[in-house]
Amino acid sequence: MARFPEAEARLFRVKICMDCNARNALRATRCRKCNSNNLRLKSRHRVK
Ligand SMILES: [Zn+2]
Repeated sequence: MARFPEAEARLFRVKICMDCNARNALRATRCRKCNSNNLRLKSRHRVK
C-alpha cells in the first residue's frame, strides 16, 4: 500500500509532450511549454 495514494496516482496521470517531453496535465490538450498538441499518455495506473 502506498503511503500517499493520491500523489502516486498523480504521477501516472500525465501526458508527455512528444515534441519537448514536458509533462502536462491529463486533461491538457496542448503542451504548456511548446503549445504542441502532440501529447501522449505516459502510462496507466496499474490496478491489481
Ligand atoms: Zn511540448
